[in-house]
Amino acid sequence: MNHSRISKRIQALSASQTLAMSQKSSELRAKGIDVINLSVGEPDFPTPEHIKEAAKRAIDENYTHYTPVPGFMDLRKAIAETLRREHGAEYAPEQIVVSGGAKQSLSNAVLALVNEGDEVVIPVPAWVSYVEMVKLAGGVNVTVPAGIDQDFKVTPQQLEAAITERTRLIMLCSPSNPSGTVYTREELCGLVKVLERHPQVMIISDEIYEHINYTGAYTSLSEFPEIADRLILINGVSKAYAMTGWRIGFMAAPLDVAKAVTKLQGQTTSGCCSIAQKAAEAAYTGSQQPVEDMRLAFERRRNLVVDLAREIPGLKVNVPAGAFYLFPEVTSYIGKRYRVEHPGGIPVEGIIESDSDLCMYLLEHGHVATVAGSAFCLPGYIRLSYAASDEKLAEAMERIRIALANLF
Ligand code: PMP
Ligand code: GLU
Repeated sequence: MNHSRISKRIQALSASQTLAMSQKSSELRAKGIDVINLSVGEPDFPTPEHIKEAAKRAIDENYTHYTPVPGFMDLRKAIAETLRREHGAEYAPEQIVVSGGAKQSLSNAVLALVNEGDEVVIPVPAWVSYVEMVKLAGGVNVTVPAGIDQDFKVTPQQLEAAITERTRLIMLCSPSNPSGTVYTREELCGLVKVLERHPQVMIISDEIYEHINYTGAYTSLSEFPEIADRLILINGVSKAYAMTGWRIGFMAAPLDVAKAVTKLQGQTTSGCCSIAQKAAEAAYTGSQQPVEDMRLAFERRRNLVVDLAREIPGLKVNVPAGAFYLFPEVTSYIGKRYRVEHPGGIPVEGIIESDSDLCMYLLEHGHVATVAGSAFCLPGYIRLSYAASDEKLAEAMERIRIALANLF
């Protein structure tokens, strides 16, 4: 019998591994250990000045009351205009729902679409929270592995094979967290063709890393009118505008989905913070130069990290085309042992049995925080976030190199 006071729903939920590793690294730091945190994925830049100014103005202008549940009309208009300008996608402001981060937009969408027992197809590796959101909604995760040998891209054949008559939803993410992979227009065309054969399947496209890409030619799934009536586009200001703490994301969706999500949000969290919404409006309507400046910095760091990782024997590395993550395969280290001498203390010994063990070893003995591939449903990899300074990245990669060289 289950005597817990906590609901079975929440007991079944796993804690976010990205946030957990980041928390562990902060705890070690609090003990005075100089840990380099490459676990959590967030831009290390401050929010651009003109956006902060807009927030200060919002306070002075008394934007301090409850906001409309789906967001201020001016912000939704600015988002619709951005989607029209960048992708030629036609959305009425009524189809946009602003939420407390893309995370809430995603969980709203999953809760609004998935019934008990519905299958949800998720190409993996996938961001830690997707499968947990599906679990919360009572859905069944159908993960489709796409490893480094296929550049972490699911093929049309794999997608076709994963879809059954019980499939309700597919969750795509490009640029991908954790692999950095970006689907080309042709590759998306191939997936869309499969989806056209299965009109009962709804599609979530998480494009939160859209502006952090090094391809020069980003294609959004909102550019395919064939699936517009089934597409829930997710995006937000966290990554592009270095605004993770402001908690503003949005979905652009068919009207019935937008209405359903507004009803859900109206009973759970209400409209988002008034001040953060005015800041987000400034992000979408103001100069886009800071976005490009940060993108260039991420591209330089991507090149640096890839070069350094390639020098480490046993790491299998791809060249990520977007986001700020590297997802090397580490299977050659699984099964190895370590023995760490402590001056005046007892040596610590152990065996690396999994990617999670490797992450713990790198954290405790290499003092670099990363996240295990298994947290993204693809064991045998680790994720490094390169949203850190060049100096920190060079030092972290050197620590990783030494720690791995000490395994035997
Ligand atoms: N989707 C992906 C793939 C992410 O990596 C993140 C990062 N946290 C989010 C959604 C959520 O972003 P936020 O809630 O900060 O807008
Ligand atoms: N998306 C980031 C990451 O994957 C932030 C942490 C989170 O929200 O999970 O690290």
